[in-house]
Amino acid sequence: MGLLDKHLGYRAPLDLIRSVGADPSNVRFDAVLSPTEGMLDGRKVILLGTNNYLGLTFDPACIEASAAAVRKWGTGTTGSRFANGTFAGHLALEEALAKFYGRKHAMVFTTGYQANLGVMSGLVGRGDHLILDADSHASIYDGARLSQSEVIRFRHNDPEDLYKRLKRLGDRPGGRLIVVEGIYSMMGDVAPLKEIVAVKREMGAYLLVDEAHSMGVLGEKGRGLAEAAGVEDGVDFIVGTFSKSLGSVGGFVVSDEDDFDLLRIVSRPYMFTASLPPAVVASTLTALTRLEEDSDLRLRLDENARHLFEGLRALGFAMGPQASPIAAVVMPDQATAVGMWNALMANGVYLNLAVPPATPENRSLLRSSVSAAHSREQLDEVLRVFGRLGQEFGLLPKRARQASA
Ligand code: PMP
Repeated sequence: MGLLDKHLGYRAPLDLIRSVGADPSNVRFDAVLSPTEGMLDGRKVILLGTNNYLGLTFDPACIEASAAAVRKWGTGTTGSRFANGTFAGHLALEEALAKFYGRKHAMVFTTGYQANLGVMSGLVGRGDHLILDADSHASIYDGARLSQSEVIRFRHNDPEDLYKRLKRLGDRPGGRLIVVEGIYSMMGDVAPLKEIVAVKREMGAYLLVDEAHSMGVLGEKGRGLAEAAGVEDGVDFIVGTFSKSLGSVGGFVVSDEDDFDLLRIVSRPYMFTASLPPAVVASTLTALTRLEEDSDLRLRLDENARHLFEGLRALGFAMGPQASPIAAVVMPDQATAVGMWNALMANGVYLNLAVPPATPENRSLLRSSVSAAHSREQLDEVLRVFGRLGQEFGLLPKRARQASA
């Protein structure tokens, strides 16, 4: 028996997907031409599944800052923040993040994934209670495992269920940490944060919000859902990533919590991994300044998000519950999803295929993530292709053809 035999259950579905067309777990871009265009198999495609919400990956100021930093500081730090891997840029970025969020403290991690692992395992441990939204991202579930705390799941976006589960804990000893996301990455729906904050207050728990998909997207200043919902003072820890709106890689946490600095010596995903390369730190810092100074980016993103979401819904597709830069088209089954995904690519549209077990309620989804950098023409082209293929796959009535052609 081979060590990988335990995963053989995935063999047949994976082979089936591969037999139909491209392998969604191994898409190769031959070139990335801009935040919204790339080359796949010699064909130009519109990039509609890249989390590049503000389109900053090719921002000239970010590129310049990054190039200057690599020349000045070299290609990598070759060590962890805990040892030799803290350069002036890491501290400048932490200071800028703390200021942006109006918090006392900030800590930068090498990825957003590690930020969740590092923060959660640093905050709760054996004997504590982690109360998670059932649709939480894998990094939150993995953070829970690393923490070894007791995990309690509440129904997705259901503050009443959260309340009930906290109530059931009664006066059992141990800390209580609730973890939710600003915008959920698969369906693009937003957490009812006001209500969740009210529950947290009543029950004396702590609250962590992962704003990975909502930083730079929600709130007048782009600070995310906590800002948009007007409840920043009810959120104890905000986690985020640099790999989406800020166009690079890395993660962070901000907080006003006393003794925050102790996290730096107890958080293993912070201590035992090399820190971010200076070029990444520099482009991230510049991207944060762009986000702060150019509110048009967010407004354009908002307009684009609505245009695509409303357009897809008007065509007749089954959509997620609300317009956000993540527009999820719900497919009737996995085979149709795989077929549509391949056909979209062949027709110049790249987006994400999301299938069970990675999706809520075992749905098969075509997941778009809109960018401020998309032009109206690009989004209209996407809608035209969706409309045409929707009819070919029998998902839309034929009459929609004339309307969308
Ligand atoms: N949290 C959420 C909600 C995410 O969606 C992701 C990435 N998709 C992460 C954390 C991890 O971020 P990163 O990819 O930057 O490590």
